[in-house]
Amino acid sequence: MDPRTAPSRRRVAVIGSGPSGLYTAEALLAGDPEVLVDVIDRLPAPYGLVRYGVAPDHAKMKSVARKLESPFDSPRGRFLGNVHVGADGIPVDALREHYHAVVHATGSAVDRHLGIEGEELEGSVGSGAFVSWYCGHPDAADLRPGLDGAAAAVVVGAGNVALDVARILARPAEDLAVTDLHNAVLDRLHDSAITDVHVLVRRGPQHTRFTPVELRALAGLDDVEVVVRDDDTLAQDLDVPSDRRTRQLVDTLTQWTHERPGAGGRRRIHLRFLRSPARLLPDGHGRVAGVEIERNEVTPQGRIRSTGEREVLAAGLVVRAIGYTGEPVPGLPFDEASGTIPNEAGRVVRDGEPVPGTYVAGWIKRGPKGVIGTNKGDGAETAASVLADLPTLPEPPRGGGVEVLGRLADHGIEPVSWAEWQSLDAAEVELGNSRVGAERIKIAEREGMLDAARGRGGVGGAG
Ligand SMILES: Cc1cc2nc3c(=O)[nH]c(=O)nc-3n(C[C@H](O)[C@H](O)[C@H](O)COP(=O)(O)OP(=O)(O)OC[C@H]3O[C@@H](n4cnc5c(N)ncnc54)[C@H](O)[C@@H]3O)c2cc1C
Repeated sequence: MDPRTAPSRRRVAVIGSGPSGLYTAEALLAGDPEVLVDVIDRLPAPYGLVRYGVAPDHAKMKSVARKLESPFDSPRGRFLGNVHVGADGIPVDALREHYHAVVHATGSAVDRHLGIEGEELEGSVGSGAFVSWYCGHPDAADLRPGLDGAAAAVVVGAGNVALDVARILARPAEDLAVTDLHNAVLDRLHDSAITDVHVLVRRGPQHTRFTPVELRALAGLDDVEVVVRDDDTLAQDLDVPSDRRTRQLVDTLTQWTHERPGAGGRRRIHLRFLRSPARLLPDGHGRVAGVEIERNEVTPQGRIRSTGEREVLAAGLVVRAIGYTGEPVPGLPFDEASGTIPNEAGRVVRDGEPVPGTYVAGWIKRGPKGVIGTNKGDGAETAASVLADLPTLPEPPRGGGVEVLGRLADHGIEPVSWAEWQSLDAAEVELGNSRVGAERIKIAEREGMLDAARGRGGVGGAG
């Protein structure tokens, strides 16, 4: 008998195949032998930000993907890629009719805004969009970041994403050729006119959210000089919190004020503390031509305030890496301030009451923080809530298995199966043979991804 049609089966849909969705699916399947799990993603490829966020030169981190695929080793786990849940695909209410429980694990990759004049100019992008572009996300394939105009780029932010963006902009393209970067992205980076990347950090060197290992990695880049511009704060007696991470960061930065890593390199990363963008300046054609930068100072109470001093820096690209927020799901409560769906241990809660059969996991549950591994415990918590509730949840009006496929077909959706993803995966690995040292080359256009998944024609879309 098909394990999907046995009447005792309980069916769970997990929407989102990023780390949180896959960890939740794994825990659900491990926790109850009667549970069937469909992991649904709007993209033909799984893994969420592991594929489309983690920097291409962090190959070791990318290899985590292999550890996430265990739900599909089980005959009770199924991947339904290329299925957008929402107005553009299948409405969540339609989907709900087929499952006892639905877990929303859709992440929170919407860029936050600075709220300053000129932010809408061409050449001003959020890190979500910019990272998607260099990671070969199909939604960003048409982005044309301003790499060929001014010699300077500005990155706003004090976290690891800001460092990722600065590093990708500054590294010699030849060094990135061994990564999975799409050929078109590599070509743009190769032809980039940018020589100076200015990372603007609003607060002082003792207030960043960098991790020490990410910061120190800047010192190992070929042909890249790292310049710390701190208004001499590091030479003063800084009020450094006692945690180890901050002490390590401050030590590294202090050392770099004496001895610049990569001195004389062709490109420079400037870490500019106590600086905020005040306004982006246009070039007369709707593009960014520069940034008016404001100098800040730390008050004796530890607050940050503007000194009123401003300078203008010519720049053709401004990337804001100041964090993300989530997208509301129609019909579910949403907390605008945190960009999350209110929940208790993963159970979605409205006015203090659980919304039956509705759960969240990952960034949409707890906000955009934590590393990939943080999603494991998070997913396990949500799975435990689902498993505890399943016996009491009502039978859905429609069936699962092939009936779900029929419902998707009614909406004009042909899902990508796990086997089809594996064909796409293999096609990317094969493309990697065309570039010395590259283990894979991403296919970035949706049509190219679907062709490779379905084994249609030659593998296109990587150029
Ligand atoms: C730029 C960047 C770099 C990072 N680098 C690292 C790193 O080096 N190391 C590390 O440990 N962590 C890193 N992280 C953090 C890590 O990626 C996150 O902790 C993790 O991806 C969050 O998992 P998630 O499942 O909640 O969301 P996501 O990974 O965003 O997954 C969400 C999934 O839901 C899908 N989806 C969204 N909406 C819909 C819809 N309507 N219908 C169907 N599917 C939908 C998306 O396509 C996606 O696959 C990084 C994060 C970013 C932003």
